[in-house]
Amino acid sequence: MPHHDFDLLVIGGGSGGVRAARMAAQRGARVALAEHGRMGGTCVNVGCIPKKLYSYAAGFAEDFADAAGFGWRIAQPPVLDWAALKANRAQEIARLNGIYEGLMTGAQVRVLRGHARLAGGHTVEVAGEDGATHRHTARAILIATGGRPFVPPVPGHELAVTSDDMFDLPVFPRRLVVVGGGYIGCEMASIFHGLGAEVTLIYRGEQVLRGFDDEVRAFTAEEMRKAGVQLRLRSDVARIDALPGGTRRVTLQDGATLDADVVLYATGRQPNVAGLGLDALDVRQQASGAIEVDEHFATSAPGVYALGDVVGRMELTPVALAEAMALVDHLLGPAPGRPARRMDYAHIPTAVFTHPPIGTVGLTEQAAREKFGAIRVYRGDFKPLKHTLSGRAERTLVKLIVDDASDRVVGLHMVGADAGEVVQGFAVALKCGATKAQFDATLGIHPTSAEEFVTLREVTRR
Ligand code: FAD
Repeated sequence: MPHHDFDLLVIGGGSGGVRAARMAAQRGARVALAEHGRMGGTCVNVGCIPKKLYSYAAGFAEDFADAAGFGWRIAQPPVLDWAALKANRAQEIARLNGIYEGLMTGAQVRVLRGHARLAGGHTVEVAGEDGATHRHTARAILIATGGRPFVPPVPGHELAVTSDDMFDLPVFPRRLVVVGGGYIGCEMASIFHGLGAEVTLIYRGEQVLRGFDDEVRAFTAEEMRKAGVQLRLRSDVARIDALPGGTRRVTLQDGATLDADVVLYATGRQPNVAGLGLDALDVRQQASGAIEVDEHFATSAPGVYALGDVVGRMELTPVALAEAMALVDHLLGPAPGRPARRMDYAHIPTAVFTHPPIGTVGLTEQAAREKFGAIRVYRGDFKPLKHTLSGRAERTLVKLIVDDASDRVVGLHMVGADAGEVVQGFAVALKCGATKAQFDATLGIHPTSAEEFVTLREVTRR
């Protein structure tokens, strides 16, 4: 057996890379991890965590407004201290960066600082921060380099920012134009609207949130509109120009113009493969640039594996973590006394932190109809108890999709306060194959919005 410096060399210290490195090292493997940025990757630095923190910040605006109906008199109109929010976020993220570093050193993973690239069979070159390039060999190499925002080359695109920039904007944007109707665009629109910006979201398609249940999409769009986000659908940007004083002028393809302080492009993400040296080893990629892998995350190059956003399956942190654990079990065998983990992409729950948020698990109505033919749809929308006094017009949607033949609940969707928290629990039931009869046999927790899921009796449509 040839001698290698490491058993596993991971490129990328994000969700998937850190988890794989730590798990492999805990099983006794000699592990290194190369990272050219801040430890923790997208989720910790410019994704899930800062976004959720800002979503909480935005939520206070609703709370202040709702409080009046409950008898609270707020003496002065609350004002957002953008600098304080940014500083507190930065402090928390720095703490998390430190925790991730500590996880690596604690597990005896050697952290290689710098940009890594494949440099031949079982070999990785890291352009270190000291200016020198270091070569390392490893029995297995794992590419976990994630993704980055994709901005189409419209004239003036360099005047726009991406989600990476939003958390640290030097000045809070009074007027924000968001281009893109995916979950990141919708979340940013809701968050910055809540924080006090005037927000217009531009999307070229018929409806935002492609890929989600159609009824959920329409319901969420309507709630966002009611809250005050302006949605311009079937609309696209022709060009962006800079006006004196820093204003960005967005000209739409129909000739209309919008002036904004910041233009955010949230038009999708692409795999982070630049400068990785994939050609050198003939690592096959899909047309999107995503690295092709088999069910064990092996690429077309012997000894080279890839997972997480860079393989473009489901771009979520828990997915990258689960893939990492499945890979470590595959490479090193399962942990003592445990079965080997395999990645299962069915019933992955997810949330969208719009205001109100979405929680979803299982199939959309359309996908369930295609898969099972005969389905039953149960749905309800209602004014949540809180808003009887707050006066807010926001409504909540709950929806179950049931396979008629087996009575199994195959899709569960919610738009409303705490939808992510609610749906996480129901995801266990769906994973276990719960039937509608078992939902019906479950008592509710009263008074909650979640209880509606176990009291839906009337079939809405088939
Ligand atoms: P990443 O976390 O992106 O890590 C890749 C790492 O590799 C980075 O640290 C990068 O610096 C490093 N790297 C890249 N190339 C090299 C190289 N050549 N050499 C050295 N280092 C390199 N997911 C959720 O589950 N819930 C959410 O609410 C959520 N919200 C999100 C919000 C936003 C705005 C964004 C952008 C993403 C969000 N995601 C969310 C997705 C989630 O962040 C990703 O799915 C997850 O981070 C993917 O992990 P990963 O390990 O594949 O890659």
